Amino acid sequence: MSVWDELLGQPEAIEQLSKIVSGKDDGFQHSWLFTGPAGSGRSTLARSFAAALQCEDDGCGSCQSCQLVTSGAHPDVRLLATDRVIISIEEVRSLVQFAEMSSSVGAYRVVIIEDADRMAERTSNVLLKALEEPQEKTVWILCAPSAADLLPTIRSRTRNISLRLPTNEEVARLLIQRDGVDQELARSSARQAQQHVGMARRLALSAEARSRRNETLRELSSISNLSGAMLAAERLLAVAKKDAEAISSEKDEAEKAGLMRAFGLSADDKIPPAIRKEFKELEENQKRRSTRALRDGIDRVFTDAESYFRDVLSMQLGTGAELVNQELKSEIVTRASQTSAQQSVDILDAIKVARNRIDSNVRDLLVLEALCTRLIFRSEVAA
Ligand SMILES: [Zn+2]
Repeated sequence: MSVWDELLGQPEAIEQLSKIVSGKDDGFQHSWLFTGPAGSGRSTLARSFAAALQCEDDGCGSCQSCQLVTSGAHPDVRLLATDRVIISIEEVRSLVQFAEMSSSVGAYRVVIIEDADRMAERTSNVLLKALEEPQEKTVWILCAPSAADLLPTIRSRTRNISLRLPTNEEVARLLIQRDGVDQELARSSARQAQQHVGMARRLALSAEARSRRNETLRELSSISNLSGAMLAAERLLAVAKKDAEAISSEKDEAEKAGLMRAFGLSADDKIPPAIRKEFKELEENQKRRSTRALRDGIDRVFTDAESYFRDVLSMQLGTGAELVNQELKSEIVTRASQTSAQQSVDILDAIKVARNRIDSNVRDLLVLEALCTRLIFRSEVAA
């Protein structure tokens, strides 16, 4: 067991970072930039690296320190996962303050910023100062889709580790080997999750998650008129909410259990007063995260919609690519034959627009309604 176990298909990144931790590579740096597409495991890698730095055994994965980091409760590791479009300057100032204090129990103070691309220039400059004059035992880990998403001044202060998306086969193998999922389910989950490991695992392990995905696709592929579009928007939002709640509570419980284990407590034990503070902090972090979960839930609706209309387009263009939604092949064939490729392209553009609107805080239901009116099935090509 080790802290790197959670990562899939990133042997190069893991090798580089383990060498740093064990001192075999003397390229130790105070500032790191982990880049890769959503689902590649940027923040998982950041947490693993933080745990390995704090662990006396280079990231054993089982000691108290490792468990505290992975359950998000280590006092010397702070992770900023913003629920807003833009990370505020106050948030970054508070991280800088945290970084300046000396560590309380760990070997380092580690600060992780997820979505470091969401900083305005003024905020980036506050961070830049901290990166330019790092405290001796402080490590900053920034995560972003790509290095180009950050200011060049920030970029040049960091060492970049870039991640790739694992293949469907790699994701399926992980589900089979580690989670004991049967082959067929592992393959279909990997395909439907489109290389997003966390999503693939949820689809493989939760019948509810699978039925929510089916429901989403059914809703958005069967809109036939304007009133249907309005109804579909409402239902899609409800599905996204349910999905978000389920994910949050799963994560919350897993983290709490991790923290209990880290203190040698079993699930039904009472939490001793001396460590209540740690549990309180965890709860507060979790509350902050849950506000972001709904946005992620809506984003998954968009991702599923994209996969469906890409399948339709792919069939219209005769690319011969494997369908993401093989289970819906007959519907996809019908739609592909009765609509034009241009319609599919327009719908994919509309999904992109919807995504941008959610990012800029337009009200959820309005965005979904606008999108659903674009999904009304209008047969344009003579059958
Ligand atoms: Zn350890």
